[in-house]
Amino acid sequence: MAERMLAARLYGPGDLRLEEVPVPEPGPGEVILRVECALTCGTDVKIFRRGRHPALGSLPSLFGHEVAGEIVAVGEGVMGFRPGMRVVAANSAPCGSCRFCQRGEFSLCPNLTFFFGAFAQYARIPAPIVRVNLYPIPDHLPAAAAALVEPLACALRGVEAAEIEPGSTVLVMGGGALGFMLAHLAKSRGAWVALSDPHPERREAARAIGVDLTLDPREDVRAALQQALGELPDVVIEAVGRVEAWEAAADTVRPGGRVILFGGCPVGTRASFDTARLHYQELTLRGVFHHHPRFVRAALSLLSAGRVPVERFISGELPLTRLLEAFERMERRQGFKFAINPWAG
Ligand SMILES: [Zn+2]
Ligand SMILES: [Zn+2]
Repeated sequence: MAERMLAARLYGPGDLRLEEVPVPEPGPGEVILRVECALTCGTDVKIFRRGRHPALGSLPSLFGHEVAGEIVAVGEGVMGFRPGMRVVAANSAPCGSCRFCQRGEFSLCPNLTFFFGAFAQYARIPAPIVRVNLYPIPDHLPAAAAALVEPLACALRGVEAAEIEPGSTVLVMGGGALGFMLAHLAKSRGAWVALSDPHPERREAARAIGVDLTLDPREDVRAALQQALGELPDVVIEAVGRVEAWEAAADTVRPGGRVILFGGCPVGTRASFDTARLHYQELTLRGVFHHHPRFVRAALSLLSAGRVPVERFISGELPLTRLLEAFERMERRQGFKFAINPWAG
């Protein structure tokens, strides 16, 4: 194994550098991967622009969190994994012992261990993730598809929280990668699905994954849904992460309906809701953040079974040297996610 590797490191807002750094060595319980593929994520773009993230630690920092590859070294005490195995890691692991973990509320664990460092030739997977959220992948599954487990696990959790069943009517607000995954999963549960996004190309792409109705959020979405369904939808999933969308979501669900607040807004954001609608129309507003290990496992089995249209969510492959270009294209909405190959020239 080489001693030095190419890795992206974040120094501050908008300041990401490709550097030669030492290949990490595995500490107790840790695993080192030779990265086959790292996927870009909307969160990466946010962290890149803001130059920080609560879980990131001190700068400069390795960066990127959706990764699949081959194990090249294991630390002391690692069980069940050995060099040569292809694996995918989720980007976090709950501690398993706090009150939240004991109640099964793993995404609320205050001791979540996060992984950063996917945009590199080798990645060190922290011991807690090796213990509960590292999974072997079947030979036939391409690394780029496997690396979708983390966002797909979040989307699965959103769809489960929404209690979507055959015949449910669902509006997904936001045509990003997560919005598309949510729409796809709702469709595969037999729901009627609408998707709103201001970009015409996104609406066209939504129709290609089988969405029943696409809407421009700048137009009268409520009237269009009323016309199509005779009432507002059972479920609205907000996957935009802006306060206007949160408020609109609560205004666009039918009485008795469920609103899943999926997109994170900047810290300190406050939203306002019509209390009469919430009370007399018995709305359920539910925040959903992150995933649990069982959703990661469920996501991986869907991917392994070929039941996810992976090519709809991954817009192309780029070498690590063009990572910034991937972020810029995502910001211009010219792609959902990019598969970053750290070995391509
Ligand atoms: Zn992600
Ligand atoms: Zn915990």
